[in-house]
Amino acid sequence: MSFILGLTGGIGSGKSAASQWFETQGIQVVDADIVAREIVEKGCPALDQIQSVFGDWVLLENGELDRRALREHIFKDPEAKKILESITHPAIRQSIIQQLDSATSPYSILVSPLLFETNQHQLTHHNLLIDASEDLQIIRAAERDGQSVEQIQKIIAAQMPRSEKHKFADDIVMNDGQLVHLYDKLAPLHQQYLVKAKQYLHL
Ligand code: ADP
Repeated sequence: MSFILGLTGGIGSGKSAASQWFETQGIQVVDADIVAREIVEKGCPALDQIQSVFGDWVLLENGELDRRALREHIFKDPEAKKILESITHPAIRQSIIQQLDSATSPYSILVSPLLFETNQHQLTHHNLLIDASEDLQIIRAAERDGQSVEQIQKIIAAQMPRSEKHKFADDIVMNDGQLVHLYDKLAPLHQQYLVKAKQYLHL
């Protein structure tokens, strides 16, 4: 496995914008949110496990996961949330490792909104936090998702506080200007990561 950069940030901070920029530089990105959806696709072992633990009501008529029903169920029942996560988290982790393992770029990136919260940073060698003020997070996420300010505020409240994330991060980029300014801040970091990746190979 090559050098792995963890990339995180709260909702609307600019994680996806940053990871897209790294992709334009030829860096392969594994997105934990995408993996989380992949592992519960029809025919996947994690979906079968969820069905046998919770019941047939977790499936839609076409055999796919009824995300909304499951989301509402675990929202009301914290114990059920724990059980669900005991199925999904190891499956997500395993799939992330497989995908990172097969990456061929000089280094690869694991982008995850819950990098620190779910200990996914155990899989990474260095961590970059994309940060933005709560006001900017709300404006950007509301515009992107068409959600209300209250909904976004709830999501932010459920995430690890920005100050806490600062303690875990090796590098922090404030995404408080235009997108070009974000890219300008990422470029020198990318050069540093290329050097680190080379050093890592020679360890
Ligand atoms: P995250 O993945 O952290 O939730 P995104 O990268 O999707 O956040 O950014 C949220 C929204 O804000 C997107 O629509 C994105 O294009 C936009 N955005 C991100 N950074 C900037 C910026 N510096 N200036 C303007 N829009 C931005």
